Amino acid sequence: MPKKKAVSQAVEDYLKTIYHLKQEEASVTTKAISEEMGISAASVTNMVKKLVQMGILHHTPYQEITLSRRGEKIALAVIRRHRLLETFLKEILGYRLDQIHEEAERLEHVISEKFVKSMDEVLDRPATDPHGSPIPSQDGKIVVPYLIPLTSVDVGQSAFIRRLSHRDPERLQYMENLGLLPNVEIKILEKKPFKGPLLIQIQTKRKEIIGHNLAEQIWVRFKNK
Ligand SMILES: [Zn+2]
Repeated sequence: MPKKKAVSQAVEDYLKTIYHLKQEEASVTTKAISEEMGISAASVTNMVKKLVQMGILHHTPYQEITLSRRGEKIALAVIRRHRLLETFLKEILGYRLDQIHEEAERLEHVISEKFVKSMDEVLDRPATDPHGSPIPSQDGKIVVPYLIPLTSVDVGQSAFIRRLSHRDPERLQYMENLGLLPNVEIKILEKKPFKGPLLIQIQTKRKEIIGHNLAEQIWVRFKNK
């Protein structure tokens, strides 16, 4: 297989952003990318044009921007590096949950394939990162499980945490302190109306009250598999 030319860090960040927007079912437009990345719309337009020429993106005017097969492959490779790094930082180096994302953002662009492979081996080929997000395989496959937000679980029902949204480090630290982590079982004891707080039971022991807003960032499944 011929070796493909590596793309720049900026390109990797664009592809990752586009991939995430699509995952979140947001419409992938210049405006959305610009807001997500904090880059001017004019710069995004230029970059998108460049990436279309490179065969990494598809874009028909007035339609959504999509990744080409090559674009998706690059995006998944970056996401693999990012999520393996997060797992490595947490499991091996003892970072706190809220500290791993930022560090991985920096390192994901500079580590070698050898480093990625070594992390994968040391960690015994993890399927998910510490937030519960799936790690793409080396050949670019990813299994995204169907999850529901904790707010959708009825009173009296139990579910297992599978993934935590990790946009806000402070919230993540709060969740980690409460023991709200992947694989933990949660029972809904009470739910106040109009998006009010939830009374939950964590691992059949602790009772806690959490806001609706926080519960929306906790993704669960009824079965722990
Ligand atoms: Zn991250």
